[in-house]
Amino acid sequence: MKERFIAALAALVLIFATPSAFAQSSPPRWSIVIHGGAGVIARAELTRQREAQYRAALEGAVRDGGRVLRRGGSALDAVETAISRMEDDPLFNAGRGAVFTAEGRNELDASIMDGRGRAAGAVAGITRTRHPIALARRVMEHSPHVMLIGEGAEAFARTQNLEAVAPAFFFTERRWRQLEQNLRRNRLPIPRRPAGAPQPRAANDQHLDDHQFGTVGAVALDTLGNIAAGTSTGGVTGKRWGRVGDTPLIGAGTYAQNGVCGVSATGAGEYFIRIGVAREICARMHLRDASAQAAADAVIAEVGAISGDGGVIVMDGRGRVAYSMNTPGMYRAQLRAGGEPRVRIFANEGN
Ligand code: ASP
Repeated sequence: MKERFIAALAALVLIFATPSAFAQSSPPRWSIVIHGGAGVIARAELTRQREAQYRAALEGAVRDGGRVLRRGGSALDAVETAISRMEDDPLFNAGRGAVFTAEGRNELDASIMDGRGRAAGAVAGITRTRHPIALARRVMEHSPHVMLIGEGAEAFARTQNLEAVAPAFFFTERRWRQLEQNLRRNRLPIPRRPAGAPQPRAANDQHLDDHQFGTVGAVALDTLGNIAAGTSTGGVTGKRWGRVGDTPLIGAGTYAQNGVCGVSATGAGEYFIRIGVAREICARMHLRDASAQAAADAVIAEVGAISGDGGVIVMDGRGRVAYSMNTPGMYRAQLRAGGEPRVRIFANEGN
């Protein structure tokens, strides 16, 4: 009896201790992290219902991206999938739900980077392409350029058969009211509602200022070890004169380098551009061997030192995630092979 028990135990130990058994049972490593903007109202002001909506939206997007990676899909596909979903969600300031310019238009910016060979694509001032992140990717993969803007970018989009929509597709009442409030505060004229926008609704949303920022972004590591990063935004409410922020600028809002890092930023773009946030974080990780957390904290401190607000999601070459922000919160979520989604909103919620 005793011998049989020992033999069975030995067999079990053999099975589980064999390296190949380990290799087969441990899932391939992949990892994804996303954000839905930094800024965020104080905990007391975010209604339970609205908080639940954000958490569900983040979880849905990170799961969608994770599903791509689990099936062996590329980091680029995962980033595009997660961001496209958030672009369609009116909760976020990207695609549908984007903020308005002072002229009452939605002008969308996006960028994407492939950490393999550091190819990149970006677009700015988009008004008719449903998924600006998809267009940024086409610029990277199917044009000789890195960045296209405005009418030219839309013309390129038509050659790529990307889904086009009427500008009013991006309209949301909540963002329109934010614009009116912003323009009144700045004593600027309120433009006419865009053609095709729905009739004004009664103001049932009391949280007009709850989302000072609201950009979306994603960084992913796939099972082949490739890193990709992307970011998409409507910019800032009441922007004028063709203003473009950090989001479509490679090195400021987005960066990816295999084996080193992936970064997507959100915040007051004027400051993120000046610090070159995404590239600066990767450079510290690469050249100074800083951890993702140390690099992110140091660079967000630099942004703060010149009075900028915002945050970043960072992933290192092994798929480990760091967040850093100098705002009360940042909508964010992460998921790794074999794990469950971790969704966070407030700064003090940890990782
Ligand atoms: N960084 C974006 C911009 O300046 C805004 C944001 O992240 O919310 O356009």
